[in-house]
This record gives sequence, structure tokens and C-alpha cells, in this order.
Amino acid sequence: MSGTLYLVGTPIGNLGDISPRAAETFEAVDFIAAEDTRVTVKLLNHLGIKKPMVSYYEHNRAESGERILARLLNGESCALATDAGMPAISDPGEDLVALCGEAGVPVIAIPGPCAAVCALALSGLPTGRFTFEGFLSTVKKNRYKHLEELKNEHRTMIFYEAPHKLKATLSDMLTYFGDRPITISRELTKLHEETLRFTLAKAVEYYESTPPKGEFVLIIQGAPTDEETPLTMEEAMEQVSALMDKGQSLKDSVKQVAKSTGFAKNKLYDAVLKAQN
Ligand code: SAM
Repeated sequence: MSGTLYLVGTPIGNLGDISPRAAETFEAVDFIAAEDTRVTVKLLNHLGIKKPMVSYYEHNRAESGERILARLLNGESCALATDAGMPAISDPGEDLVALCGEAGVPVIAIPGPCAAVCALALSGLPTGRFTFEGFLSTVKKNRYKHLEELKNEHRTMIFYEAPHKLKATLSDMLTYFGDRPITISRELTKLHEETLRFTLAKAVEYYESTPPKGEFVLIIQGAPTDEETPLTMEEAMEQVSALMDKGQSLKDSVKQVAKSTGFAKNKLYDAVLKAQN
């Protein structure tokens, strides 16, 4: 019978966020696959746990993944840990999970912090529907394609960013998305944790004079849906005409359209009268 792969969520800065179940899992498995064994050994030392480790990271995931799978198929159990947060979320792990899925090896999540979800919850922006976009590519063509694809995205968008790329990223986002609400969370769970609520233009301005420090998550409000897009005065006037064509009085039509569009009654009334003369 095969062993089990455990995806163990680890702290994103504050060691107090390690869960008792994560510690029990590290203790119970036969070996740990770590993105960086030097980082994970510090966590294990903190927990007083000693365990054989193998490395599993971006550039060895194909070979290392096959070796880990072979051991799992041989009945050993493995805990996968990355440097911070949930494995497989902008971190190595998704390929190993897919390999295990194909081979019928059970995979169990030991949930822990995830910077994306923490920042989303802190944002105050709509959380009912959201999309996780990870890091933008540093290759200009791919980066601009990604932003272009998202410019009409209605869902709240989550991005990760490194400090030295933040300014360029905000400026590209302003170009593609226009000025919209954004929250920027940095150093979550750490001493200098901060969440700033801005618009994209204000954020660009802010980081002109404040050098970005730490790790960042950007939460950006989606594009307005058609129903939310404000109507132009001309479109509101067309609605008034349509109601009048149905036999409604000018006064009632203006009142109704002003209410549904947010235009001031007197302005709409004047505009309709002007257009009639
Ligand atoms: N697997 C991780 C998770 O579940 O959040 C994400 C790993 S990804 C390689 C690293 C990125 O996550 C950072 O560049 C930053 O954008 C974000 N991040 C990680 N820890 C963070 C923290 N404490 N505060 C803000 N952002 C953080």
C-alpha cells in the first residue's frame, strides 16, 4: 500500500502560526520534502523535530518529484513544505500533487497561512468572487498580455510582488486598469505588517517617495460590470425619451431615470428640454 503526501502549510512570517497538526505531521512522516532545507530545518529546530529531508524546488521538481513518488509508492509518507505558506500556491507542489493524483497516492492538506487569502480578507474589497494571478512575468510581452487579458476582469484580483518590482508593476497596472481601488498588504504576520488602502494612481505616487520594503500582496478591485458602469447623460436622456414614447409624462420620466441613474433631476430635466428645443 502506498504512503500519503501531506501538504503542510507553514508560517508566512510569524512562527506562532504553525499549527499543532502541522507539527504532528512533521513528527509522524517518514521524510520531509522541502523547498529549501535550510529554511525548513529552522522551523523543525523551533519545533524540536529531527527528520530526514530531501529538497524539492522549482529547478529539480521533475527528478526530485519522481524520486519522492517512488518512495510514496513504496509505502513511505512524506510532508511537503515550502519556505512560507501553503505549498503549491505560487510555490513548488502542484506537479507533485498531480503526479500523486495520477499514481493513486493519497494527498492530504494540513492547512496553514496563505498570504493571498490573508491580504484578500484584509482588503475590504469584494471577496465573493476573486481571481489569483500570482506574479506578473518580468518578460514584457507576457506581462502586458497578462494585464491586457485582465483589464475587463470583474472579479477582485490578487497579485504577489517583490519589493524591487513593485513600482513598475503599479505603474503598468495603472496603465492597463485605470485608476481603481487597490489595497497593498506587506509583511503580513510580521513586526512591520501594514495594509494600505489606495487607488492605483495614489499608490504609484506614494511609492515615488517611499521605498518599498518587504513582501507584498496587491488586491485590486475588478472592472465595473455593465450594470455598474455609470451611464452618460446622453444615455440617460435616451431612457427618458423611451419612457415618454410609452406615454409617460416628461416630469415622471425624468424622476424615474434620475432615480435609477443617479443624475440630478433638475440637470436631467434641463438637458432633455434643451435637446427638445
Ligand atoms: N505559498 C505562499 C503562500 O501560500 O502565500 C506564497 C509563496 S510566493 C513564492 C511568495 C510571495 O508571497 C511573496 O513574494 C509575497 O508576494 C507573498 N508573501 C509571502 N509572505 C508574505 C507576507 N508575510 N506578507 C506579504 N506577502 C507575502
